[in-house]
Amino acid sequence: MNYADFHRRSIEEPDAFWAEQAKLVDWHKPFDTVCDYSKPPFVTWFAGGQTNLCHNAVDRHLATRPDDKALIWVSTEVDKEVVYSFRELHAEVQRMAAILRELGVKKGDRVLVYMPMIAEAAFTMLACARIGAIHSVVFGGFASVSLASRIDNAAPTVIVSADAGSRAGKVVPYKGLLDEAIKLAKAKPTKVLMVDRGLAKFERSAGRDEDYATLRSKHMNTQVPCEWVDSTHPSYTLYTSGTTGTPKGVQRDTGGYCVALAASMKHIYLGKPGETYFSTSDIGWVVGHSYIVYGPLIGGMATIMYEGLPIRPDAGVWWSLVEKYKVTSMFSAPTAVRVLKKQDPAYLKKYDLSSLRALFLAGEPLDEPTATWISESLGRPIIDNYWQTETGWPILSLCNGVEQLPSKFGSPGLAVYGYNVKLIDEATGKEMTHSDEKGVVMIEGPLPPGCMQTVWQDDERFVKTYWTVLDGKHMYSTFDWGVRDKDGYYFILGRTDDVINVAGHRLGTREIEESISSHANVAEVAVVGVADQLKGQVAMAFVIAKDASALGDQAARLKLEGEIMKVVDSQLGAVARPSRVLFVTALPKTRSGKLLRRALQAVAEHRDPGDMSTIEDPTALQQVKALVG
Ligand code: AMP
Repeated sequence: MNYADFHRRSIEEPDAFWAEQAKLVDWHKPFDTVCDYSKPPFVTWFAGGQTNLCHNAVDRHLATRPDDKALIWVSTEVDKEVVYSFRELHAEVQRMAAILRELGVKKGDRVLVYMPMIAEAAFTMLACARIGAIHSVVFGGFASVSLASRIDNAAPTVIVSADAGSRAGKVVPYKGLLDEAIKLAKAKPTKVLMVDRGLAKFERSAGRDEDYATLRSKHMNTQVPCEWVDSTHPSYTLYTSGTTGTPKGVQRDTGGYCVALAASMKHIYLGKPGETYFSTSDIGWVVGHSYIVYGPLIGGMATIMYEGLPIRPDAGVWWSLVEKYKVTSMFSAPTAVRVLKKQDPAYLKKYDLSSLRALFLAGEPLDEPTATWISESLGRPIIDNYWQTETGWPILSLCNGVEQLPSKFGSPGLAVYGYNVKLIDEATGKEMTHSDEKGVVMIEGPLPPGCMQTVWQDDERFVKTYWTVLDGKHMYSTFDWGVRDKDGYYFILGRTDDVINVAGHRLGTREIEESISSHANVAEVAVVGVADQLKGQVAMAFVIAKDASALGDQAARLKLEGEIMKVVDSQLGAVARPSRVLFVTALPKTRSGKLLRRALQAVAEHRDPGDMSTIEDPTALQQVKALVG
């Protein structure tokens, strides 16, 4: 089929289009309406319908492929590999569901998941979906303050965690950070379920902490049927950073998400039942939700869940998995490719990669040299796709399952079906109609199935943060700049807000600033994202010390820099640690006191900051220039 027609139909006849896609999933009760957009910008997909994500990901495959591989867990950290068939996964998920029920979890309750990349994390997510509980996975790299704010927002009945993760062979304890976070949080979970991997000793809080292995052994044969939930029932919340310091809980529905993922497996990710999908992300991020756990399983595929680094024991480890499990679709991030690019290219030739239909890359801009290198080395199509935690699945991509179209390196491709993408002039609010004009990437409402329903318990924040009415139409802002060429291919040019993207991890600069400000000797701080060859961007902090006399020499400055980094590590996690903390006596501000963030970033990247006539103290930027060299 012609993709342009496919896309046009999805926008002009959304009901007919999505009703067709909805046939890709099982419904316990058919829906009454496809799209209800009577209260914009809120949209309801498949109202009246009842389904269950776990049923679609696991149970429904029992009839046709019970012994096919479902979850392949590989850890190069602890040298273990476990393969679960759909039948075995079904049993494990029921055990986990029985445990959660025993611990008091009911439909609609939140279960917070703070876990490394272990199979039990996937069991937990699927078990929650099974019983209608709402999971809230927090990335394992976040530390106690980040975790505490998420616990407070989700107010979970139960938290599921583990003794430790492992990175590059080094044990990374989780439980101490979790205990600290629970102490800081106002909302207290009734129970903490601990998966003890035997990696790190930890203290148990009597009456609160429960042992997974002990409870599992009680429920070896417990049957827990799927709870049929309304299409609109929240399946999960996932926190993401924005302009303000408090992270937002992106709330996802059940029916729309299930349909969107099933359709994306077919049209975008080229997956077929019985094949193997390998996404190298982490369950703490949206890619892990959509394309490690739910998407591939809904599509009847085996999914590889990998704990470890891409270069350990050597840079061939991912490709060895592609060969061993005949991976057909692989999903990773540009930073990982840039890491591999620094290794011996012979590793790419060592394995039979002929099963691979395509390598999908997302999460951050894919620069042309990286795209060219991996495309030539792999000899397989590289498909860049652009999306966000909020949308849950791609906004821009090539939909080669519909029609094979050429890639253009540097571009994530065309607007995906269901997304009415527009480029809007920031100053006038008018649509850019000519090619190659830069505008804000916006999506005209309604958002398609699978996207966020709202901000968890904060409809007002959802409306205020993301939506504007232009010419009477509700428009969702992605907060990214973009241009479109004459063929309809988009190019993403970076964020319009204060969000930065470090190695594909989205971080709010305000969160990092708040953390740094808690150091006793910090009077003021500004954090900006600075271009980096490997990670795309890194965070750089500019600090005005309260007591500048403590910064007499280089050794003293390095000491304070180290202390500040430790504060960020312990509060937010190493993922948010700035690459440098530099000390200044003034920050570039306007006369009305507004921080000139873009100017600061430009100078830190050795670019021209542009018109600086509004700056209060011109020496501020000179100091930055001198520091960054
Ligand atoms: P996250 O919500 O963590 O997935 O981050 C979403 C943001 O990452 C987007 O708003 C973009 O700024 C950036 N992003 C994601 N994918 C791409 C891509 N393929 N090309 C350019 N930027 C991307």
